[in-house]
Amino acid sequence: MKTVIRNGKIITCTDTISVQENHSLIIEKDIILDIVPNSEVKRKYPDATTIDATNKAIFSGFANCHTHFRLTLARGIFENESPSNTPPFPGLPRRPLPEISKEEHQIMVLLGAIESIKSGTTVAMEVAEGIMDYADELQKSGLRLVLAEQISDRISGSYGEPGEIKSDPQKNENGLEQMSNLYSKWHDYDHSRITVGIAAWSPDMNSPNSLHRIRSLQDKLSVISTIHLNQLWGEVQNIKDNYGTTPTKYLEENNFLSDKLIAAHCRCMTTEEEKILGKYKSTVSFNAAIAARRGLSPNIKDLEEFGCKIAMGSDNMDENMIVVMRTGMFMERVRMTDGRNPTPHEAYKRATYNGYKSLGISNAGTLSQGSKADLIIVNLLQPHLTPQTNIISNWVHMGQTHDVESVMVDGKWIMKEHKILNLDEEYIITKANEIAARVWN
Ligand SMILES: [Zn+2]
Repeated sequence: MKTVIRNGKIITCTDTISVQENHSLIIEKDIILDIVPNSEVKRKYPDATTIDATNKAIFSGFANCHTHFRLTLARGIFENESPSNTPPFPGLPRRPLPEISKEEHQIMVLLGAIESIKSGTTVAMEVAEGIMDYADELQKSGLRLVLAEQISDRISGSYGEPGEIKSDPQKNENGLEQMSNLYSKWHDYDHSRITVGIAAWSPDMNSPNSLHRIRSLQDKLSVISTIHLNQLWGEVQNIKDNYGTTPTKYLEENNFLSDKLIAAHCRCMTTEEEKILGKYKSTVSFNAAIAARRGLSPNIKDLEEFGCKIAMGSDNMDENMIVVMRTGMFMERVRMTDGRNPTPHEAYKRATYNGYKSLGISNAGTLSQGSKADLIIVNLLQPHLTPQTNIISNWVHMGQTHDVESVMVDGKWIMKEHKILNLDEEYIITKANEIAARVWN
């Protein structure tokens, strides 16, 4: 069975970018089989199901390289309770995240999944402890997922909190066991729509022993790894106080850096650290929206020049990758006082193609023959997207969630004409509101 998306503007983005007009995209199973002129479709694919995309654009879906879906529970609270960026750390106390049941966690996770799909995300890396508790519910959304079980062994205080770091090796072993179980059950599930990664929490939440053990398991399973790195100035202080070095050097000394690592944040970094990370060709997940909310910014241009790949992530409370992509471009332009760079092409590529590459998903993240059919259909007949002189620039600068009409992952629609197909949107939103109202009281 083949599907034809006919007459949309097809956006192909790798090192260059192109917009193909008067063409149709042919999808068979999970793959983009062909891109042909409209005039040839009937002859070449007479039996295919046709979807008319006149006045629409077909973009790659977003690759969210760092999120915690269940922290949708903290929406409206944690955005405005950032840790201090100057001593004393961690600064004004933040309200603790309320305890909720396993079933309630599932609702909050699905709320995040729905928000992701509606804003055009097709793949997300979920980073959390205890993913097994909700992996099955989450995968039913139809999203492509990388499930990264987060492991740590610190038992004194939390990340960014000063003091002597005390660790419990058993806590680490428990985390490794959970990770192995998650891998056994979910890695390569549904023709590899679901894969598994491994996560250390952060330099100040993982002892040298923990980092070595996680890296060993990563190598054994041949999966990608991730960590929160140079996230907060409190973390930098912690690593200096406890190990006499910087967070990135600490990871290098403990064999954690590689080209299969996605380092999230990288905001509080010295130039020496940026060069170290670049030397290993690690990816930086530029979590621009949360970075802006925290009043911090990574040096993206420098990190890229030193050898890092730049991808993007949402982190907490907000799964909207359109906002993440745009904020990332705006932040860099302000930081560099450069009104031309990064370009919309660079911003778009980071949020799509680069993300797929960093997540280890081959043949994906762009719309070309042989690529995975992970795509979104965007309605261009909107005042803010008109005139259509430069569609990529419009999308990065002006795109809105409600422009996204349909979302396809692995050749299957998971949202069609604004309707979420695999989850009960109204029920989940209602329940999520009830849960948050009760627990935050
Ligand atoms: Zn995070």
